Amino acid sequence: MTISRRKFLRTSGLALAGSSLARPNLISNAATILRGPSKKIAILGAGMAGLVAGYELTQLGHDVIILEARMRPGGRVHTLREPFSDGLHADAGAARIPDNHDLTLKYVKLFNLPLEPMYPSRLSALTFDRDGSRREGSIDSFTEALGGHFGQDLGGSPSLWQKIKGGTDLLPRAFAQKLADKIRYGSPVVRIESDAKAARVVFLQRGSPQTITADRVLCTIPFSVLRNVELPGLSEGKLEVIKRADYVAVARVYLQTRNRYWEAKGLSGFAFTRNAVEVWHPTWSQNGPRGILMTYARFGEAERITNLKDAERISSTLQELDGYFPGLQANYEGAATKCWLEDEWARGAWWFVGFRDFGRSIEVEGGRIHFAGEHLSAWPSWMQGALSSALRAVKEIDEAA
Ligand SMILES: Cc1cc2nc3c(=O)[nH]c(=O)nc-3n(C[C@H](O)[C@H](O)[C@H](O)COP(=O)(O)OP(=O)(O)OC[C@H]3O[C@@H](n4cnc5c(N)ncnc54)[C@H](O)[C@@H]3O)c2cc1C
Repeated sequence: MTISRRKFLRTSGLALAGSSLARPNLISNAATILRGPSKKIAILGAGMAGLVAGYELTQLGHDVIILEARMRPGGRVHTLREPFSDGLHADAGAARIPDNHDLTLKYVKLFNLPLEPMYPSRLSALTFDRDGSRREGSIDSFTEALGGHFGQDLGGSPSLWQKIKGGTDLLPRAFAQKLADKIRYGSPVVRIESDAKAARVVFLQRGSPQTITADRVLCTIPFSVLRNVELPGLSEGKLEVIKRADYVAVARVYLQTRNRYWEAKGLSGFAFTRNAVEVWHPTWSQNGPRGILMTYARFGEAERITNLKDAERISSTLQELDGYFPGLQANYEGAATKCWLEDEWARGAWWFVGFRDFGRSIEVEGGRIHFAGEHLSAWPSWMQGALSSALRAVKEIDEAA
């Protein structure tokens, strides 16, 4: 018996996407996906959701084009390499991977990316008691404080947590390399519409509107940005959900130092402050002597920092961290900041309630427009959420007539 190229691609694609997926909303069974004709699909956004969908749909033999507003892939997976010295880097978005995020780990493995522990096991972390008194303890005290404050999703044994060696952006870059001829960067989408025959997407290319026609559209644009896109034909209820999407503020400040002087004092550079701000030493596993200390502020603190001018963000963080790690001002060399509410193509870090609110619209809208992204998943605020929602959409699109 001969096997067609398309059927072969579908089968091999499933080997990647489908093996050992336990969640019911994911591709779990080859028999459910070997359906439907080859389609032209426009994917909007080259973040984790758009990239994995582009990759798997291509494996299945569909004709894919990905429109991305930025000049890089990855969206909220973004590793800062500038303005740091000596090849040091620190993540602006996703960094931590827990051991139960099977999809994230699956694609890390697919591209042979090396993992390493997220946290150092040596030296002490700083935490603060309810009365504000300072404590030095093992890194377990840091993850305990995180779990206690933000929920067990962030807690547990430090050994459960890993990161991609070299920066998290290696993962979207690996996808993008496979899809190089299918991604159009610098192409912000301004209008999406569909009728019984086709879907159309209007996007800007060097400021001029261009239109493409497709059998199906997969929209992974965060709702915080999608509210500025024209969506004729979408129901009032869904438009209202998109309009109300309330993305969370996150602010990070990175301070580069000429050496890692805190280590000589027995400190790892990790802390959980009185204001519930995480402090990381993201360069602890990178070659020295220089280092970076990073603050990771959420709810309340993040908005306060976002409202400051850049120089004030840096000077106030420098002053505060010098209190925890005395000697910082003397060893400070330079800084960077990232406030996600300011990011033109994200307008926030993530959104927690979208999945339930958007309801049936995670299914096909107007017959031809599908939606995916962390905001439409059971794992909002995680790469795993972006991946799982996209695989659900891949299945919908592949099975459609
Ligand atoms: C500060 C922070 C920390 C995080 N920490 C972790 C972590 O430790 N571990 C983890 O697993 N996850 C983490 N996450 C979450 C993870 O990064 C996201 O859930 C995931 O990357 C979202 O992927 P996405 O494809 O849904 O959205 P996005 O990454 O936002 O992708 C959407 C894409 O659409 C593009 N776009 C926007 N508007 C348009 C337009 N009009 N036209 C065309 N393209 C457009 C954007 O540029 C972007 O590339 C973190 C996120 C942030 C912000």
